[in-house]
Amino acid sequence: MTAVSTADKLVSVLGAKTAKVLEAGLELVTVGDLLRHYPHRYAERGELTKIAGLEIGEHATVVAEVRRSVVTTSGKGGVMCKAIITDGTRELEITFFNKGKFHNGKLRPGKRGLFAGKVGMFRTTLQLAHPDYMLFEDEFDEVTAAEEWAGALIPVYPATKGLNSWEIARCVRQTLDMIDDEAIDDPMQEALRGELKLPALATALRRIHLPASYEEVGSAKKRLKWDEAFAVQLLLAQRRNAFTERVAASCPRRAGGILDQFDAKLPFTLTAGQQEVGATLAEELTARHPMHRLVQGDVGSGKTIVALRAMLQAVDAGRQAAMLAPTEVLAAQHARSLRELLGDLGMAGELGAAEQSTTITLLTGSMPTKEKRQALLDIASGVSGIVVGTHALIQDTVSFAELGLVVIDEQHRFGVEQRDALRNRGSGDIVPHVLVMTATPIPRTVAMTVYGDLEVSAMRELPQGRSPIATNVVPSAEKPAWLDRAWSRMREEVGKGHQAYVVCPRIGDDEDKPPKDGGSDRRPPLAVMDVAPGLANGPLKGLKVAALHGRMPPDEKDAVMRAFAANEIQVLVATTVIEVGVNVPNATAMVIMDADRFGVSQLHQLRGRVGRGSAPGLCLLVTELPGGTATRERLDAVASTTDGFELAQLDLEIRREGDILGSAQSGTRSGLKMLSLLHDRDVIELARQEATKLIAEDPTLAQQPGLSRVLSELVDAERAEYLDKS
Ligand code: ADP
Ligand code: MG
Repeated sequence: MTAVSTADKLVSVLGAKTAKVLEAGLELVTVGDLLRHYPHRYAERGELTKIAGLEIGEHATVVAEVRRSVVTTSGKGGVMCKAIITDGTRELEITFFNKGKFHNGKLRPGKRGLFAGKVGMFRTTLQLAHPDYMLFEDEFDEVTAAEEWAGALIPVYPATKGLNSWEIARCVRQTLDMIDDEAIDDPMQEALRGELKLPALATALRRIHLPASYEEVGSAKKRLKWDEAFAVQLLLAQRRNAFTERVAASCPRRAGGILDQFDAKLPFTLTAGQQEVGATLAEELTARHPMHRLVQGDVGSGKTIVALRAMLQAVDAGRQAAMLAPTEVLAAQHARSLRELLGDLGMAGELGAAEQSTTITLLTGSMPTKEKRQALLDIASGVSGIVVGTHALIQDTVSFAELGLVVIDEQHRFGVEQRDALRNRGSGDIVPHVLVMTATPIPRTVAMTVYGDLEVSAMRELPQGRSPIATNVVPSAEKPAWLDRAWSRMREEVGKGHQAYVVCPRIGDDEDKPPKDGGSDRRPPLAVMDVAPGLANGPLKGLKVAALHGRMPPDEKDAVMRAFAANEIQVLVATTVIEVGVNVPNATAMVIMDADRFGVSQLHQLRGRVGRGSAPGLCLLVTELPGGTATRERLDAVASTTDGFELAQLDLEIRREGDILGSAQSGTRSGLKMLSLLHDRDVIELARQEATKLIAEDPTLAQQPGLSRVLSELVDAERAEYLDKS
């Protein structure tokens, strides 16, 4: 027998026809690819697969029993054969349009076997379309399922058109028969493998495909998960390592500087979290290695002060600090609130400035040319100490005199590439320190994987005296009176001198025609441009109502925000432009229309806009969806807790993990088949420790050719994925 290796093309092992189907349907090209195509579950002969869990459209493989079968003659004289299979409770119909497959009444009541096909629905009957089957005891066929898996677990593979689960199993078995264990390179260090009691890679692969027991499946999974976790963590450890080897400007805290004076006049005491994170940042800014830290703190936890204090330390050290916000509204608001917080300390060059002071410069993409030119000049000459802006800031046209620190607010709108671009904005070989702030709490395992090139700190408590936000679901279809009540609650809040937000999923201007929901009879999502006049002339008549959305001209947006901040507008009807960072403490109520159109974290962010002052906040989630649906349960969950960390976990469970990794673009989808960010926390933590240790000793993995190869595969896959997207 010729020796087969993992790099060999499948065509040489399985033949052209099968190899073609595997490549077209599952993107499997090499022997290694096929061995990494793991079963997604296992079936047992004695155990019928629950039909209730199947999803329409899914390509399913089930163990079932034939209940009855009939042959009918259809109108055109053709023969149609139909069988009903069951899991003991529910039934599935399988239909064949010719007698070939059905032959000779093999599908007799009581027979058990594997059935595969696409799950469909015909009228009210659940069906398997284009079914394939293999009976456990079949007098007519030489190869039966019973022979193939005598007594063992039956691997069930993600299948594809033209190749069902057991055909894939045959391919895998054939391949495993032809490959020697020695031909499967094991990149793992023997010592570590022994320490962690993990099986060798070849053993793990054989066991995952052909397990004799669930214990074998378990040990194989442990090993395969480790490999994935370790590869990603090595990559991240290398990135961290490469980054810290670069040089940053040391910005030690200067006694008697602006920061000291700012602290002296702070009207409140910092929370424990603010102090702790502040101390960490102060120390890291002092180092000559660039800081690269993610601070996560729930909405309202006071991240702005933390960022400002870090920026002042940089300014005191003679450097500039830049703060990036995801939207122009937010950038303008940040500039305004930083100016307010700093008072005379931020008025350098103006009348009434403190003896030591700095200048805050706003720079956004759509500023009038003249203003922008002046801002660019100030930034380049070093007149600006703190620069606040949108992404326009990272464009090449902006040159800083002495950029020392970059603060990125609201990380979830910022990609890895943008962060990378920023790191290169320093002067010469000096890179700026980077502080990333996010209000979307990230579960630790995700932080360690997706944002694994950053160090992470969290601020968990809110400042004292913050009022709780009460959240309620308003089922407007079932209980229209509740919606009326919602509007009168808004009037009451305004009556008390407070303000309110109404959030809609859509803008509704000319550029934004309602999407035609093909086939679905749901009405289009509500739009700001319809709801605002509707309220002003209807339930909120007499109140000062205004609209705000992302496509308004910047100066108009700014004017509306200012008017709202000054309580000249009582009810602001807006899109999610207000989702992040908008801070108007007098706003106490929020109504979110079509709340079912928003994600869990987004709803949590949105409601964080109210209850920022001393009066209690109220958030109403309006939806037409009936109770009992998954979406309604999601809304109930948001209503039941204000713990952002808990909701983030929930959000993660709802979204597919691949989406999270995919959008963050670090760690690759292709690299994570077995590892679950939700459930494999222990493995991820251990892998991170070991990877950090190994990279510290051997940054380029020169001593570990196996690992280094795994890594280069991972990086390539990542690059390929990145190119795919652009
Ligand atoms: P976020 O973390 O959501 O960005 P902000 O930084 O906007 O929160 O802070 C929300 C509000 O809390 C602001 O009005 C801010 O001045 C106030 N604040 C921040 N820290 C404290 C504190 N330690 N004590 C009292 N109020 C604080
Ligand atoms: Mg903020």
